[in-house]
This record gives sequence, C-alpha cells and structure tokens, in this order.
Amino acid sequence: MYKRVSGTKDILPEEAYIWQAIEETSRNIFSLYNFKEIRLPLIEDAALFNRSLGESAEIVKKQMFIIHNKEESYALRPEGTASIVRSYIENNLDKNANFTKLYYLGPMFRLERPQKGRLRQFNHIGCEVIGSYDATLDVEIISLADILLKRLSINGHTIKINSLGCLKDKVSFTDSLRKSLTEKYRGLCQDCQERLKNNPLRILDCKKDECKEIVRNLGLKDSCLCDECGAHFNRVKKGLDNLGVKYEVDPNLVRGLDYYTQTVFEITHQGLGSQDAIGAGGRYNNLVHELGGAEAGAIGFALGVERLLLVTRIKAEVNDKNLVYLVTLGDKARDEGVKIIYSLREAGIPADMDYEGRSIKGAMRKASDLKAGFALIIGDNEIEKGVVTLKNMLSGEQREIARLDLTKELIC
Ligand SMILES: [Zn+2]
Ligand SMILES: [Zn+2]
Repeated sequence: MYKRVSGTKDILPEEAYIWQAIEETSRNIFSLYNFKEIRLPLIEDAALFNRSLGESAEIVKKQMFIIHNKEESYALRPEGTASIVRSYIENNLDKNANFTKLYYLGPMFRLERPQKGRLRQFNHIGCEVIGSYDATLDVEIISLADILLKRLSINGHTIKINSLGCLKDKVSFTDSLRKSLTEKYRGLCQDCQERLKNNPLRILDCKKDECKEIVRNLGLKDSCLCDECGAHFNRVKKGLDNLGVKYEVDPNLVRGLDYYTQTVFEITHQGLGSQDAIGAGGRYNNLVHELGGAEAGAIGFALGVERLLLVTRIKAEVNDKNLVYLVTLGDKARDEGVKIIYSLREAGIPADMDYEGRSIKGAMRKASDLKAGFALIIGDNEIEKGVVTLKNMLSGEQREIARLDLTKELIC
C-alpha cells in the first residue's frame, strides 16, 4: 500500500466543504476591496527566492524544494510575494497598470521537519498591492486581514505591528544591534550566534528563552526610525485607531525575510500554543526595483489556510438537501429513470441513482444515508400512469406527480 508523502495532507470531501467556504469568503472580501485574482506557477527559478528573501533567510537556507534540471535549478515556491513581483515586472504591469491590487490562493512548499507538525505542502491565501508608499494603504491591508478573519468566524486573534524603517534605518539598526549583541554573544543560542553574523535582526524573534531574555534587556523602542519612516509609522497607527482596528506595537517583530521595509505585521491566535502565527505581512518598498522593475512601494500579507482551519468556527453548508435520489424497480423503470434524472440535471437540479444493484429497501436506505432531499421512485405502475412517486425524505410525505410536472415541482 502506498502512503502519502510525509508532510502532505489529503483533504477529503467533508473537509473540502470547509475549504470551499473559506475560499469563497476570501474571494468575496478581496472583491469588496477591489482586488483581482492572479494565478501563478508553482515552480519558479530558484534564484528568484535567493535574491528576494535573502541568502540568509531560513527558508532559503534550509527549506526550499529544489529541482535540478540540467544547468537550471527550479524551486517549488515557498511563498507568494516574490512570484507576484516577478510576474508584475515580467508582464509590464509596472508600465501599464502601475498601481495594482492582486490576491491569490494556493499551495506553497517548504522542507519543514514533519515531526514539528508542520506541513511541507501547505496553503496560503494572500494579497499584494504594488505601486504606492501611502500609509493609508498599510491601514487598508491590515484592516482587510482583520475583517477577513472576522468573516471567517475567527475571534481571539492579535495583530502585532512594527516598523523596520527604510533600508538606511535597517542598516543602522542592524549595526547597533550587532554591536550590543556581540557583548552578549556567549549567552545566545547556537542559531543566534550564527545569525549575529548574517542577520542579527532575526535574533529579535528567536523563540529560545535565553535569547528572549537578552532581547528584552536591550529595551528596544522604535526610535531607530528616520523622521520620514517615523511619521509613516505614526500615520499607520493613527489610521488603524481611526477604523477601530485593535493592534499591539511589538518592537521585537522583524519577520525573517530581507525584503521587508517599514511596516511589518503578524497575526497570532491564542488558541494555537507556541506555533501561534496564522498570518503575516508587511511592506517591501525596494523589492520591485531590486528584481529589475521600476521604483514602487508595495505591501501584502498571507494567511496560512491550515492554521485558519484550526481556529475557524465557520460551518460548511453541506448542500445535499436538494439532491434527488432515483430508486427504480425493473429494467424498464431504470431506463425511464435515467432519462428523468438526466433532464433534472439539465434543469440544474442535483440528482443521483443507485449503481450497486440494491433492492428498493437498500436504495431507500442509501438515499437517507446520503441525506438526499427526495427519493424519486419509479416502477411499472408509475410508467403506466405517466407519473413518478416523490418522497420528501425529511417529512416522509410521499405522493404521485405527473412526469411533466416534476421539474417544476422540484424547482419551487
Ligand atoms: Zn527611514
Ligand atoms: Zn536564539
């Protein structure tokens, strides 16, 4: 017997209903904000992610699925933002459309250690806006994430925000961080000792107690921002207050990817224990230019669908209450029945029948197991009279209806 690959998951029909509900709700909310869907390949040039996420990012160093093909290396996409920026530039959206609002749904891939309960193929719902530096846009994006979660019947989430500042601010902050952390080098965990060389910012969100303690003692504030970035961050906070969106400022929030600048945010949920993030996002004002496009401010976020499923109270509507289940007695009735359910489906009424040679009693039981709305019973008697017997499975009421009236009856 074959088993599914470690770190992957089968979504069976019962759960797929909930996925459909989450996807439909997300599409509706994105439409309210005038976002358009974009669908991109699952494989990209591996160099795209090295360049955009940064060589020192955990994802690039340890988690990429790489496919080697002759001279080329492809990567199964580990996240959506880099692909969207690649597409934005490649399709000349920077020249033709400029300001662009896009959303996406789909699988991402990371070589996680499966014993941590993380999936190697998981799904993101996300959005990106490219073409503006306006702080009002940051407010729109964060409030959109908040509204989306609420509409997905999720409560108890916390939005943490921070500003990393522009590239200049990031460089000077990284330098001063490296300076003050070098004195504490021995106290840091092994990973962070490594990070101190390549990516000191990452130390701020290390989950190890010893590192958390060191970081807490640094007493960080957002004073490392230049005037412009400080003012931008103030406008973001004010804008969120204005809309009544609740948030916490967390000066330790850095996000692990090189491309982030200015506003970053993370959404956590109290119901999830130590791996409590359900989504994250931020600005990446230099990435479009970095990847070969024009200078363009940009911001986006992604939510992990599998994480949403753990905390949503959304009820999926299993919509079988209109299903008509055909039950026949004899070959002639079966032929007639097939014709009838064919015409029902043509009229948009869902219909099914027995293919397993069940007795009438067995077929009726099947109709009830399927939670069909109606059983459609046909035997020689019905054919002779030009009628069908329709049983309402909920009330148990059963009556004869002229064949010609059946569709009308079921549509009403
Ligand atoms: Zn700045
Ligand atoms: Zn650490």
